[in-house]
Amino acid sequence: MIRLNCPDFGLRDPRRLWQRYVMALGLVLATVLVGHTMYGNALRDLNPLLASVNDVNQQQILGNKILLVLRNEERRPDGEVLNSLRSSVDLFEAAHDRAVAVAQRVPAVRAHYFDASGPMLDARARDFVTAVRDVLRQLEEGVPPDLANSALWSFQDNGFQGYLTTSVRLFEEAALERTARAYWARDVLTMTALLILVLEAVFIFWPIQKAVTSAMDRLSRSNRNLREKSRVLSSYAGRLAYAAFNDPLTGLYNRKKLHDELETLLGRGDLDERRVCVLHIDLDGFKEVNDRFGHAVGDAVLKRVAEIMRSRVRSSDLIGRIGGDEFVIALEHRVADGEAWVEAICEELIAKISEPLRVLDVEVKIGASIGYTYATPEMANADVLISNADIALYSAKRAGRGRAQFFTGSMRAGIEQRQRTIREIEGALLTGAFKPYFQPQVSIRTGAVVGLELLARWQHPERGLLTPGDFLPIAEETGVIDAIDTRLTVDGLDFLASLHGAGWDGLTMSINASARTMRFSDYPARLKEAVVGHGLDPAHLVVEIRESELLADGEGQFAANIRALSEAGFRVYVDDFGAGYASLAHLSALNIHGLKIDRTLIANVAAERTEQVVAAVIGMAEAMKFAVVAEGVETPAQFSALQRLGGQAAQGFGIATPMPMEEVRGWLDSYGARERADHA
Ligand code: C2E
Ligand code: CA
Ligand code: CA
Repeated sequence: MIRLNCPDFGLRDPRRLWQRYVMALGLVLATVLVGHTMYGNALRDLNPLLASVNDVNQQQILGNKILLVLRNEERRPDGEVLNSLRSSVDLFEAAHDRAVAVAQRVPAVRAHYFDASGPMLDARARDFVTAVRDVLRQLEEGVPPDLANSALWSFQDNGFQGYLTTSVRLFEEAALERTARAYWARDVLTMTALLILVLEAVFIFWPIQKAVTSAMDRLSRSNRNLREKSRVLSSYAGRLAYAAFNDPLTGLYNRKKLHDELETLLGRGDLDERRVCVLHIDLDGFKEVNDRFGHAVGDAVLKRVAEIMRSRVRSSDLIGRIGGDEFVIALEHRVADGEAWVEAICEELIAKISEPLRVLDVEVKIGASIGYTYATPEMANADVLISNADIALYSAKRAGRGRAQFFTGSMRAGIEQRQRTIREIEGALLTGAFKPYFQPQVSIRTGAVVGLELLARWQHPERGLLTPGDFLPIAEETGVIDAIDTRLTVDGLDFLASLHGAGWDGLTMSINASARTMRFSDYPARLKEAVVGHGLDPAHLVVEIRESELLADGEGQFAANIRALSEAGFRVYVDDFGAGYASLAHLSALNIHGLKIDRTLIANVAAERTEQVVAAVIGMAEAMKFAVVAEGVETPAQFSALQRLGGQAAQGFGIATPMPMEEVRGWLDSYGARERADHA
């Protein structure tokens, strides 16, 4: 594409519009100058021409006057007459000179005066003047004048006079012609000037107007844009500032802002005259509401809780949401109000939050636990206060939720111990300090070994061998139990596969599934993959689920996983049966294969009343085709009671204590030998 690079004289950049104005002014100036010159040229000769008309008329008068005088004063004219004659002839000659000077410049008139073919008016006039002067001189000298001179009287010829008249006409015509020319020039100039103005209007001023208008438009557009941008920016900045300090969902302070405000509140000092109480609040059952009804309902619940909090404290108190369902409130009150004042507020908050809430057309029920602590002149650090209130909250939750707990120093020690344990568990997982122990199960009828239960042990570097009671609660609470179980299950499967390879191919292995693990819907599939990966049959694996957890299975996720496990070919047993209150009827609805009778029942199985209970359980279980394993068998008496009552297998210190992998082979061999000896 060819781009013509012609200058636009400021159209694109209005700052250079002056170039256009200069152009327009230049054109106007040129027009004026040209006009002035043309007009001036046309008029320049007009006045001399008109003057010449006068001069020639005067010549006629003077000529006639001279001749008249001469005719009357033929003889001796007096001095006055002479003077008059002299001046007349001088005037005549001067008028003639002027007329000739003008005639020189006008061709038509010049011909009239000089052309040999024409009247030769100039020569005649000069002859006339010469003749008059001759007569004058003769008169002055007193010599008789030569009045017969034809040059003198030629003036009286019609020719001479006629020539002068013609010359007047010629001068007049020339003047007229000049006037016409001036008018013509004036008209042409006027038209040209008008045309130039129109052209300037079209090509200079109109584009200027357009350029200016569009520049103004651009300006006002960019102005509008700028205003809009700055409006957006400032509202954005406002939102940013708001978001930086507030929880977008509830409008309460966020963690940082709450912390800062609390610092300010504490920083005012005089903490022995006023009291600052920090409450750490956690909702009970919120996660379930969220899981069951979805996030929209969860959000609405949080908003409602925020409203409840706002309505229960004064506007000068601080409220913040510092985590999903965690809130912190800082209350200020007079020492005289006493601690009962805060206790009352806590109770009120818990009661109000625990009322059924109707949000988004569903009715939900949650609860709240609160931990709280006071600032003192020695302890006025926001971080520490919030963390202490959190520790008290934890202890409120452990004590059964739905309550408020005041922070005490010993709680911190407990928490610190707990945190240490968590760190240690994580370390132990890395160093392989968790070890699978195995406790054999034997057939009640034949005494033969039928299976092994995998039990976790932790070889602690300082505290020695730890049993699950030492770490399981924390591990379950924090979720590391999943990692522990996965690890131990793989080790256990390796071992079971090696036992099968060594000829113990009828042995089953029982593993304990934690409540957490059973909530993962992919657990059955993962377990199956691991078992098949070891070349084992899922039928060789028993998954034990505690009775207490079955009862707590609100959402049926357990039941679904139990079904999936048995569909995958695993056997599922209910552990610690009889310690809780699960009815056998309840269990019949689940796809389970067996029960493990809790060792509290077995401990007294030799006593008459308990024996009847165990007998009833075994009887009903057998009727429902459940296998029965008795656990905690410690004495021969218990074992023989079971032999009377029935049941498939027994497990307990009386048979074997849990042992590490390395000991299992030896035990199996020696137990097998003993068995054969016993039966022999
Ligand atoms: P449990 O499933 O009921 O396991 C049997 C517990 O009873 C074991 O305690 C075992 O050492 C103990 N025991 C066995 N025979 C006798 C006996 O004759 N008398 C007495 N008094 N106790 C006996 P342990 O190993 O301390 O395990 C405690 C619980 O921890 C287990 O109860 C089980 O629920 C859980 N657990 C153990 N290992 C694991 C594991 O690897 N993962 C998971 N999630 N839980 C485990
Ligand atoms: Ca068990
Ligand atoms: Ca048990």
